[in-house]
Amino acid sequence: MSMSRTLSVINPRTGETDYKITAVDAQGVAKVADRLRAAQPDWRAQGIDARGDALRSLADALDDGAKSVMDALEIDTGRRRLAQSEVQGVIGMLRGWAALAPTLLPEPDWVQGRAKPNFKHQTDYVPYQLTGVISPWNFPITLSFIDAVQALMAGSCVLIKPSEVTPRFADALLPIIAQAGLSDIIAFVQGDGATGAALIPNVDCVCFTGSVATGRKVALAAAENLIPANLELGGKDPLIITPSADMDRATSLALRASVLATGQACQSIERVYVPTNDYESFVKQISDKAHDISFNYPDISFGDIGPFIFYKQAAIASAQIEDAKSKGATVLSGGVVERHGGGYWMAPTVIRDVTHDMDIMREETFGPVIPVMAYDTIKDAIALANDTAFGLSGAVFAGSIEEAHTIGRQIDAGAISLMDGALTGQYFEAPKQSFKASGLGGSRMGADGFRRFFRQKAYIANTTCPLTIKDFSEDG
Ligand code: NAD
Repeated sequence: MSMSRTLSVINPRTGETDYKITAVDAQGVAKVADRLRAAQPDWRAQGIDARGDALRSLADALDDGAKSVMDALEIDTGRRRLAQSEVQGVIGMLRGWAALAPTLLPEPDWVQGRAKPNFKHQTDYVPYQLTGVISPWNFPITLSFIDAVQALMAGSCVLIKPSEVTPRFADALLPIIAQAGLSDIIAFVQGDGATGAALIPNVDCVCFTGSVATGRKVALAAAENLIPANLELGGKDPLIITPSADMDRATSLALRASVLATGQACQSIERVYVPTNDYESFVKQISDKAHDISFNYPDISFGDIGPFIFYKQAAIASAQIEDAKSKGATVLSGGVVERHGGGYWMAPTVIRDVTHDMDIMREETFGPVIPVMAYDTIKDAIALANDTAFGLSGAVFAGSIEEAHTIGRQIDAGAISLMDGALTGQYFEAPKQSFKASGLGGSRMGADGFRRFFRQKAYIANTTCPLTIKDFSEDG
């Protein structure tokens, strides 16, 4: 029996429940999936250039209707400028992939066999019919489209389950998708984990962005259904500063890369390693700079950082800070959850004298927290950077790109920012895969981010007379 569940949605700036969604149940998900599947053969048959045109039309419609989506996303996330740049970013992704994807597929051609020249083969690239996307709350529209656009260009239809914490933007997108004529090609199903779980048996390939714990569940469900799972999970990204680094730049970049988006980005710097000789001046400089950072409150159009999007994240960050304090760390700035206007806020929190026995150095914080630890030798710094269950990304700030590169080669993670930090949030063109518990599957960036959505299908032709059973006979 189908039972509809209504979910309340909290506004991160007011703490009030001011939005509701109806969670789509398993039957409802199956119905939407059927609708998309019915449209997919035509979508594929149109060809890649026509699909590019369709996505350009969607980009144009989103450009025209950007304000309504930005406004919804602003309420979802409690921040204005990043909401605007997220929407602009999706417009760029649509146009960018529309131009690039057609250049990435080789023209079908016959290849003559090497060992057996009487055979030849040709490869067809067959898209998955329906791609499922399950996205988190921290960059709601970006992470709903960061895999979906390539899947669409490949000829797949896409079913997206946004986070129940930030669902408003998806409702605002529906008329725009309809205006572009793509309602049977791209669909959203609103709901929580139950809706996400119901999506997996209904799709042919799943792209999940979220926490490690949920990622494991998605991987298991995908295995059960024998579909590929592309998992982009959490991180605990280290930043190594070397003795030759410019400490003014190092402190500014460490602060930005840790607290941008209130630290609610998978690629945020969550651990900073500084040479012992520079430690005192580094922590003083970075905490002085941290004191200059303001909340975008009460007026959203002024200030540097927004509230926690999901109030539960404030409790996680706070518990990690308390754990660190109880084990001997000292908080130099921020460090407490502040309540303003019903929202949950935290000022940039510099913590000194941390060790790897503390949760703050081992578990994802997803808050504006900068734990700084001293090291004696570069070898020690690298060992500390690698002492983690995660391997999403990392960063090195040194005296030169070359020096940073040498150290970066020894960090066990899928993307290393050199002479900066958290660059995967600014630059989307470098192929990268997640190491360790940070994920599974091919790169979402670069050409592989498109090729993931195809299976290779071989046509093998015999140019001579087929063999008979006697050709394989024991007595032959
Ligand atoms: P989450 O794992 O709690 O939820 C993510 C999504 O999964 C939501 O849409 C949720 O409804 C859905 N879900 C929950 N249970 C499910 C189930 N059993 N089956 C299917 N779907 C289910 O993550 P979150 O708290 O929304 O997001 C924060 C996390 O996302 C952080 O750990 C962060 O590091 C990670 N993240 C990773 C990247 C990346 O690219 N690697 C980017 C952004 C965020």
